Amino acid sequence: MHDVVAALVRLLSRQPGVGKRSAERAALHLMRNKETHLLPLIETLRIVAERVVPCAECNNLDVANPCHICASDRRRQPKQICVVEDVSDLWAMERSGMYKGMYHVLGGTLSAAEGRGPEALGIPVLERRVRAGVAEEVILATSTTLEGQATAHYLADALERTGVSVTRLAQGVPIGGELCYLDEGTLVAALQARRRMAC
Ligand SMILES: [Zn+2]
Repeated sequence: MHDVVAALVRLLSRQPGVGKRSAERAALHLMRNKETHLLPLIETLRIVAERVVPCAECNNLDVANPCHICASDRRRQPKQICVVEDVSDLWAMERSGMYKGMYHVLGGTLSAAEGRGPEALGIPVLERRVRAGVAEEVILATSTTLEGQATAHYLADALERTGVSVTRLAQGVPIGGELCYLDEGTLVAALQARRRMAC
């Protein structure tokens, strides 16, 4: 394998969920289909690199800052903020079509081992936003993994001082489950069955 091809395989295999073997298959596919796959990919990557930014308000990824969700609050419900671990969870909530409020994207869970504290997850930004804004309810939609639960408890504690109502997605989310893998019906049920979070 030439260095150039090896570099392509290496870069592809660095993406989450892509092993060495699938990176090789993708590299071959791209090299064999320049016009239909490789060049459109290059063009899209260039546009994404130039234009996609994190939203300063909610940490969603979008081509606009504030993102299209934060900017459309006349059509959405600014009294609710749903806290999710990652943008893929926001996408899952949006696919369900059920939720019309705002979001806060943590970008992970609290982890002492990985050095991820409240600052890294934008929790102080969320607190300021709750204090300064019109939100009446914060819905904690972190996953039911140990880290997700610990992060939800930390958030419930931190937000208690703001006086906002803090709820948690309840039934339907399996223990250890990540939000973005839920089917839409389960997600809707979990949202409807949310309950007040006890600190
Ligand atoms: Zn936003």
